[in-house]
Amino acid sequence: MAHDANLHAGIIGKPAPALGVTQWLDASGQPLADYGLDQMRGAYKLVFCFQDACPGCHLTGFPSLARMVDAFRGSSFISFAAVQTAFEDFESNGYERMVAAQRKYAVPIPFGHDAGEGREGAGSVLMNRYRNGGTPWFILIDPAGEVIYNHFHIDADKLIASMKRAEAALRAPPPDADTLTWQGVLELTRKGNPPPPRRLELSDAQWRQRLTPEQFRIMRQKGTERAHSSAMCSLFEPGRYACACCGTELFDAATKFDSKSGWPSFTQAVVPGAVAYHADHSHGMTRVETTCNVCDAHLGHVFPDGPAPSGLRYCINAVSLNKVSS
Ligand SMILES: [Zn+2]
Repeated sequence: MAHDANLHAGIIGKPAPALGVTQWLDASGQPLADYGLDQMRGAYKLVFCFQDACPGCHLTGFPSLARMVDAFRGSSFISFAAVQTAFEDFESNGYERMVAAQRKYAVPIPFGHDAGEGREGAGSVLMNRYRNGGTPWFILIDPAGEVIYNHFHIDADKLIASMKRAEAALRAPPPDADTLTWQGVLELTRKGNPPPPRRLELSDAQWRQRLTPEQFRIMRQKGTERAHSSAMCSLFEPGRYACACCGTELFDAATKFDSKSGWPSFTQAVVPGAVAYHADHSHGMTRVETTCNVCDAHLGHVFPDGPAPSGLRYCINAVSLNKVSS
């Protein structure tokens, strides 16, 4: 149920204040003398706020919490706490109801109860410090101690996926000297690309003869295919991907990943010099265009939001690529 002040709720971007919760049970239901952010051991901390009499807490809140806790069982990357932030119906949101909720859901995390100054007071201390909009309410705190998310709803699957990616990136070895990173890409757009292994230069008329109208529009006129228009996005068989204009091998399937963008995505080109990089200021954005360094065919763009170790996401038109078996 929403609190009156939910229009301007939350303290996103602010340092996380002490929880201010004094009554705690540990993960196994035993009383804890003292608990709070300092005792939560994860790099990230997620605090779930509920009231037992709040239907939404049971309908969506606890199930989301249980899925996230389950996904990070045994990991110290993110730690969880649940707090009954009582601000209304103090009778039905009492200490015993917090104890009952912990037993009912058997989520193995500490549970707290916070009714603040009591039934005639302002309600939960945590809720006032974090300016919660009501219950259920999810608060995510980053390793620097900053609130990076607070809301009634949380997309548990999305949070799990992004936290798993961040956890993997933390464990991944740093890129070696041969791996091209975003810094290297920006340098190439400024200083120029390495010489290509060979050159193929044809007139527009010659390209029109060799290519389909769609290929010509995309590869010779810098067009973009519709997202999700190619089955190549979900193809992960081993092999190489060659330029559809000149046959130069550009990407290896080993560096292909599912970016969910709707375009085939890679983290690295097959060899330095196969792909060329150009600053692209079209459509009111600054992006980095990728072309075939042999024939100048437009391939797509490269972005700095890819997975470790390169951190690159080559977002390539499927029309610009031919799968070859080598
Ligand atoms: Zn080419």
